[in-house]
Amino acid sequence: MSLKVYNTLHRKKELFEPIEKGKVRMYVCGPTVYNYISIGNSRPIVVFNMVRNYLQFSGYKVEYIQNITDVEDKIIKKADEEKVDYKVITTRYIKAFLEDVKNLEVGGFNKMPLATEMIAEIIDIIKKIIENGYGYVVDGNVYFEVSKFPAYGKLSGQNISEMKDTEDNSFEKRNKIDFALWKKAKEGEPFWDSPWGRGRPGWHIECSAMSTTLLDRNIDIHGGGIDLIFPHHENEIAQSEAAFPGEGDFVRYWMHNGMIEVKSGKMSKSLGLKKNWILKNLLKSYSPDTIKMYILSTHYRSPLEFSMEKLEEAEKALEKITNTLKNIKFLIEQKEGLSDGETGGKADMQVISRLGTFARKFEVNFKNSMDDDFNSARAIGDIFEFIKNINNIIQKPDFKNNASLKKSLSGAYIKIKELGLVLGLNFIKEVSRISEDIETRIEMTKEEIEKLITEREAARKNKDYKKADEIRNYLYSMGIILEDRKEGTLWELKDNRDEK
Ligand SMILES: [Zn+2]
Repeated sequence: MSLKVYNTLHRKKELFEPIEKGKVRMYVCGPTVYNYISIGNSRPIVVFNMVRNYLQFSGYKVEYIQNITDVEDKIIKKADEEKVDYKVITTRYIKAFLEDVKNLEVGGFNKMPLATEMIAEIIDIIKKIIENGYGYVVDGNVYFEVSKFPAYGKLSGQNISEMKDTEDNSFEKRNKIDFALWKKAKEGEPFWDSPWGRGRPGWHIECSAMSTTLLDRNIDIHGGGIDLIFPHHENEIAQSEAAFPGEGDFVRYWMHNGMIEVKSGKMSKSLGLKKNWILKNLLKSYSPDTIKMYILSTHYRSPLEFSMEKLEEAEKALEKITNTLKNIKFLIEQKEGLSDGETGGKADMQVISRLGTFARKFEVNFKNSMDDDFNSARAIGDIFEFIKNINNIIQKPDFKNNASLKKSLSGAYIKIKELGLVLGLNFIKEVSRISEDIETRIEMTKEEIEKLITEREAARKNKDYKKADEIRNYLYSMGIILEDRKEGTLWELKDNRDEK
């Protein structure tokens, strides 16, 4: 199967064929930096990170650009409220955004241009729009004349003739649906010199300027949330195609993610929901993997409900995977049963061949799911199917480990990790993230924990069950859960949610 992408422009899934063979140029609208980003703002970042990863996994070289809007009405309003220069606001929230992206372990943008760094390019494209007859100047403001661009509405399905009627006499625009390309600076506002006087760019124009300049007018994928289809992306099409007429569609595939929604009224009643709506806060309670698991467990175009229950579900689901990986790792590292002869070859060959079949099936299914418009929800289901098949083998009472089996298990382990990473999931909860945290969270070092476990094992061997229980209870009170297995004792931290 080959990759199919749902193209908002044609409202259907289409075979993906980039403009240049083997290369994909991708532009995604980024945040306006006047506040901390929400979980809602995080969805496109997680989704398009997965899209980029899968394109790379499929052999494409990907150039991925995401802009940052650092001059805009909301920023100026916030600066006024705080009585500071707008740059104080943008510096603060750009820093916060970069931290969020890093903590969420997504991103890896090839370029992250700021609007204020592209003013020359923005002025250039506005000039072209005016020269080509699509823009007009009124007293230092420049507007796009929508009625001159008959294709307006092709992305969003809006009907201009219905919109045109609403004349706005209080305003200087020729028609209400005309939109600003350049805004004259008011007293105290940030400004740049331009052929039309001092002013600043309108919001929509920066994306046209950046995407056409930085991707050489060969844009394969342009993405963002569905809330950007109208007017933002509709206006981007009008601007870009008006500036460069006769070049065909400005973008080949328009991709839009659905919104994250809170059930009506719930947000105002729940303090937890309100607090956790901000990504920075959410990351204090949940691992980046959990947040990504929550987002990717629903197809990117579908609406996604925001609730603590959904996050708990994602965390539990993730645990099933990380636990299985931990069990596999335990078997791979197990010292006993090294020689194949010990367990008799014939039955093992069957187990190994079954594992191989499951692994191949897993990879084929995963690719088919992702080829179907990046269906990460189904791809996660494919991981679970594989995990279930592995558990059916390794949890059997008569299961015996040996060297050949370890090799197969090792292959399965690597495959799960590899395809997990395509989605942006690390599956490393037990391994590094938590052990890094141990000292601050439970005031015990890993060595101390392991020393107590050894003492407990000695006590059990001596049939001193009272002492063994005391150690178990003590560790439990410190937030550590023990799991006795025939191969030895495993430990892990109590769930995050017990702490809250
Ligand atoms: Zn944009």
